[in-house]
Amino acid sequence: MFSDKKIYMMGMARSGYEAAKLLSQYGNEIVITDGKEQDLNQVSELESLGVQVIITSHQENYLNETFDYVIKNPGIRFDMPCIKKAEELGIPVINEVELAFHFLPKNVHIIAVTGSNGKTTTTTLIYEFLRAMGVPVHLGGNIGFPMCSLIYDIKENDYLVLEVSAQQLHDMYDFKTEVSVLTNLTPVHLDFFGTYEYYQSMKKKIFNHHDKQCLAIINMDDKVEMELTSDISSTKQYFSLQNEAQVYLRDDAIYYGGEKVIDVNDIRVQGNHNYQNIMCAILATKRFGIENETIKEVLMQFAGVEHRMEFVSKINGREFYNDSKATNVKSTEIALGAFKRPVILLLGGLDRGHSFDDLKDDMDYVKCVICYGETKDRIKTFCDSIHVDSNVVNTLEEAIKVAYHISEDGDVILLSPACASWDQYKCFEDRGNEFKRVVDTLE
Ligand code: ADP
Repeated sequence: MFSDKKIYMMGMARSGYEAAKLLSQYGNEIVITDGKEQDLNQVSELESLGVQVIITSHQENYLNETFDYVIKNPGIRFDMPCIKKAEELGIPVINEVELAFHFLPKNVHIIAVTGSNGKTTTTTLIYEFLRAMGVPVHLGGNIGFPMCSLIYDIKENDYLVLEVSAQQLHDMYDFKTEVSVLTNLTPVHLDFFGTYEYYQSMKKKIFNHHDKQCLAIINMDDKVEMELTSDISSTKQYFSLQNEAQVYLRDDAIYYGGEKVIDVNDIRVQGNHNYQNIMCAILATKRFGIENETIKEVLMQFAGVEHRMEFVSKINGREFYNDSKATNVKSTEIALGAFKRPVILLLGGLDRGHSFDDLKDDMDYVKCVICYGETKDRIKTFCDSIHVDSNVVNTLEEAIKVAYHISEDGDVILLSPACASWDQYKCFEDRGNEFKRVVDTLE
């Protein structure tokens, strides 16, 4: 399907680079266009493989009817002129995950995770459970390792755990999993998708081509998700914090099929949201025969994923937490729910025009908000409206220093910014690393 073809790649970045490298091995003619300068080493490596890389703000100018496929970077909006042109010319538009799917050997057990929140944690947990079972397993997708980069190592009957975003699902058609997890649904990324309904319809694609042999793992407590998945053809299994589903929480323990798996006190990561992620991972791996003992061993060790409620250090009685991955208000609400002691909250970042009002019921323990970044003034207005103290600064570094200065023994200093990082950073990882770097300099 993808040999001796002419392929137009819209957007390079890491996934485009990996896709181009893979495709170049099959005699394809490849043109990549991107609006931003790319890593020069990667560009020259691709050029040495015969790939043409063009940096331009008019990607549509280089697309014509001679191309067989467009491979689109998931970050590029689907209403861009170049995509419209591909549609007019009748050229199929897919993405790197869909492409990699066609290169997989036979009988790979694909387990894919999507949802508004908890994707990375759940994906990582499933991977850790399978690793602890001793089966050959690979981890990739939206989690930072493009699937095209894994293709060389995956063998027949291996396990492949993938995090998949709604932006990726948008351009996936043949992709089919053995197990699909939908963690939850909240109205996020509406600037990208336009409506909540359209976003939901993209998430539903994680169950595409499913039949009764395939497993769908569904959040029984999420009404929107229950409704959305009511007509899918998969075998459905449910998790719940409230009801006795296949896996559920009762009396501070997690149960599977009526049998106690683990007491929450023995679980290193805390909070209901993490118990939900754990329940998803239990269902996904019970299908492959995981023992309760193995689950317990992993959960007693697993300390969470970097930049997600990551404990950084304790300095003079102040505890610092890095939740840089909280790029929306919902995630910050969850983070605040984890503390029952005074919190100084660092809030701010890219201004998408989103409201902070939903935080108001979660501010009981917040003694001060340090507002920074593009949204700083709007956050201050919000704090004033609910009578919570605030300080306005420009940068995260200043925010950390002010927070430390006004803090007292026993306080939590929490970066959970409820905004994307792109006003001041390349990505949330850079923001989280900067937080840890500055905290490290405090005395
Ligand atoms: P994602 O990959 O979907 O962005 P992560 O696992 O990286 O999710 O977690 C990001 C943040 O989302 C966490 O710091 C936490 O605040 C919140 N979160 C994690 N799991 C859940 C969940 N199951 N439900 C709601 N919020 C969650």
